[in-house]
Amino acid sequence: MTQINPMAPVMVTGATGYLAGHVVKQLLEAGHTVHAPVRSPDNADKLKYLNAIAAGTQGQIKYFKADLLDEGSYNEAMAGCELVIHTASPFFLKVKDPQKDLIEPAVNGTRNVLNAVNAIDSVKRVVLTSSMAAIYTDNTEIAKKPGGVLTEEFWNETASLTHSPYAFSKKLAEQEAWKMMKAQDRWDLVTINPSFLLGPGIGPETQGESYSVMTQFGDGQLATGVPDFRVGVVDVRDVAMAHVRAGFTPAAEGRHITSGYDSGFPEMAKMLRDEFGDKYGIPKSTAPKFLIWLFGPMINAALTRTVVSRNVGVDFKADNSKSVRELGMEYRPMETTLVEHFQDLVDSGRIKAK
Ligand code: NAP
Repeated sequence: MTQINPMAPVMVTGATGYLAGHVVKQLLEAGHTVHAPVRSPDNADKLKYLNAIAAGTQGQIKYFKADLLDEGSYNEAMAGCELVIHTASPFFLKVKDPQKDLIEPAVNGTRNVLNAVNAIDSVKRVVLTSSMAAIYTDNTEIAKKPGGVLTEEFWNETASLTHSPYAFSKKLAEQEAWKMMKAQDRWDLVTINPSFLLGPGIGPETQGESYSVMTQFGDGQLATGVPDFRVGVVDVRDVAMAHVRAGFTPAAEGRHITSGYDSGFPEMAKMLRDEFGDKYGIPKSTAPKFLIWLFGPMINAALTRTVVSRNVGVDFKADNSKSVRELGMEYRPMETTLVEHFQDLVDSGRIKAK
């Protein structure tokens, strides 16, 4: 049981990111003081949406300069904090050098943040953003699990520098965190393992992989047919809430699958078409798997033939019951998430009518 003093500041890494923006927003709305170590604390433009939220709430935000790759750079921001929420990690599906671009910032960054936790006596709990990607690599693994469903007991076994390196980075980073937690007894660790995040960001300039994928549903890129990628989908705001609850629920422990719905790209396209009709380039049909296998690698380097063979048209199934039981999660309807995210892209001019 770990009781966090709500008056103590909460440190959140990656505050400029899509997910952490909502974590910070919810903390500020609840009146907390947030310590936000970011790479560019002097970049007022990048911080303007966080500052606007802080100005309208009882909470306060203080920025510090830190980088996942700079040893010791998180100590100052962490001073006096009892709760540390570590979300910062690169999320790119397409990278030139997986070791340098993904593994090093994810793993060395987690080690760097947790070395600071070891050095700063006030810290009692760390909530780490891991991923479903730390639990499995390809959908073909899922049917072979007991009950044919992913639970918190599994780790991905096949991700590597050459196959799904992002999933590899998330597994290595989470395992490093558990190793460091077990080597001491002052602070505990709770992980949040979300599936694919969707839903509007805190400002109209939000970027990242979740935004890139949603944009493709409306800008005509998938007009010839959407690939039948079977994925877990969850609202970014629900996952932010899971982080806050994981921080302040004394009995929270271990890993938490935070995935609202077992779904797929064709269902997502249908939900968007039902709401927005033919006005935008929302795909109307599903692309045949053999065409994606053939042309996928030419369109997107992350879409290797192995990835296509093992994932397209193969069901995704995850058990989110621990998050419901332990963190009281109630996942908002998937239609709401998709429609609000798409509308955000329309409002910010990134998806235009045909
Ligand atoms: P995002 O918008 O790209 O945010 C990533 C954050 O990490 C940014 O604030 C970025 O800072 C920071 N960061 C990256 N490299 C850094 C470095 N070297 N030093 C300091 N900060 C660094 O990504 P997101 O989608 O919100 O993802 C946040 C977390 O959720 C990640 O751990 C990701 O693995 C996890 N996750 C995401 C999804 C999803 O579908 N999006 C699903 C499951 C798990 P800058 O602004 O300075 O670049």
